[in-house]
Amino acid sequence: MATKQEQDINELELQTAREAAEEAKLRKELAHEQLELQREQLKSLRRDNEAAREKTVKHEASKKQAIETQIRIDAENARKQMLCNHRMGGKDLNGLYNGGDIFTTYTVEYNAFGLAEIRCIRCDKTVKPGEKDFDEIFRLPRKGLESPRPVQFRFARG
Ligand SMILES: [Zn+2]
Repeated sequence: MATKQEQDINELELQTAREAAEEAKLRKELAHEQLELQREQLKSLRRDNEAAREKTVKHEASKKQAIETQIRIDAENARKQMLCNHRMGGKDLNGLYNGGDIFTTYTVEYNAFGLAEIRCIRCDKTVKPGEKDFDEIFRLPRKGLESPRPVQFRFARG
């Protein structure tokens, strides 16, 4: 027959073992839940990465298309400017770029800084001051009213 003291020790050892088993069970559950969480995070991350990749591919495609379109537009403008004789008049489609008039289709425009630029209204060719032929083109006979006057902007001092 065990003494009261031996019974107490046995009881204490049993309780410690139960607590250790309970702790091990909780640790296992925690590890399981953490693993589950990491799996879900991985799934979410994969979805996000896939979406980002698709977006990048789409973006690259639209960028490439924009560049190709710009190249086509530039080539078309260069072709028009090469064909254009920058003169008014002309008949039919051919006359669109081969005007027979003595007047030029170049118009003088002033930018926000009051500087004159010359632009052909048919082919959009623009000649800026200082560029080759600017002075010559500036003196070509022009139809219509007097050239527009530049608007002078003044900045008020604070
Ligand atoms: Zn022109």
